[in-house]
Amino acid sequence: MQNGKMKAMLFLAPGKLEYREVKIPEIGASDILVKVRTALTCGTDVKTFKRGHPKYNPPTLFGHEFGGDVFAIGSGIRGLQIGTRVVAGNTAPCNTCYYCKHGQQNLCEDLMVNLGAFAEFIRVPGRIVEQNLFTIPADLDYGEAALVEPLGCVIHGQDLVKIELGDSVAVVGAGGPIGLMHLQVARHNGAGQVIAIDINDARLEVAHHLGATRTINSTREDPKAVIREMTAGRGADVVIESAGALAAWQLALDLVRKGGRVLWFGGLPAGMRIELDTTHIHYDEISIFGVYHLTPLSAFKAFELLRTRIVDAQALITAELPLARLEEALEMMGDGRAIKVAIVP
Ligand SMILES: [Zn+2]
Ligand SMILES: [Zn+2]
Repeated sequence: MQNGKMKAMLFLAPGKLEYREVKIPEIGASDILVKVRTALTCGTDVKTFKRGHPKYNPPTLFGHEFGGDVFAIGSGIRGLQIGTRVVAGNTAPCNTCYYCKHGQQNLCEDLMVNLGAFAEFIRVPGRIVEQNLFTIPADLDYGEAALVEPLGCVIHGQDLVKIELGDSVAVVGAGGPIGLMHLQVARHNGAGQVIAIDINDARLEVAHHLGATRTINSTREDPKAVIREMTAGRGADVVIESAGALAAWQLALDLVRKGGRVLWFGGLPAGMRIELDTTHIHYDEISIFGVYHLTPLSAFKAFELLRTRIVDAQALITAELPLARLEEALEMMGDGRAIKVAIVP
């Protein structure tokens, strides 16, 4: 920091980032300023870099998974100390709209979104300070703690699809960071067989280490045949799609048993449509869940699983690069060389 300036990475247009000095954000009475220690690359950042983001208005700061130290505190805040290690969620709901009142804060009509983790400092607005700020214990890294947002999304999805004790759970796209969190949470939720499906052997190896009971490389084995064989011909009780690809959304429907549940987790480009076999959905009574984002409660649960190390976060952070090399980090994550990259300002 020099003369109220900081280094930050700006998103200018698809494929175009700029590393430059910008003003350190000013804080209001209810906000805090956090000195970013570690920010994580997320699939959303990779997509934004490649094709832009419908809700971002470039040039803009971006990045939303981070851990850091409280650097300045608004005059209206009590009970927070300078230097405290914290992780903050990237959103906070209004708690007054129709959806919030129905416990669906992830669908809030006035969801406050905070971006700018790919910088030396980030302002955390009061609403997020109140609802989505966690103190990081001494034995947890900034980067590990920064998983609270994506892990919260995973937990929110599994809360919808309700895994029961002994369920067979298939995860499509299991080798990505989201898939690897899904399989860990599924195990903890009591799943019996956890079947990891991916196209990358190295990632399937990680899935195996994190608790997958069977891995399937779908370029060599037919997941449908393998899963039928494992489940006396039925199919999986629960199938979780986390590849963010149309083919994966479709595959999920092929792998589920009669009366089973499908979670379509990975977002697809706007306007994309999918073909459904209505006979299958109707007579086989398939339940399909769409899922978006997380609630303060699922973030809270996520932080507990990180704090208690029920979820292994370290295994998902496979590289570290300085902020100036963010573009390289996004490419590494995009082409599968890294699962998640820790960005250090
Ligand atoms: Zn994220
Ligand atoms: Zn709301």
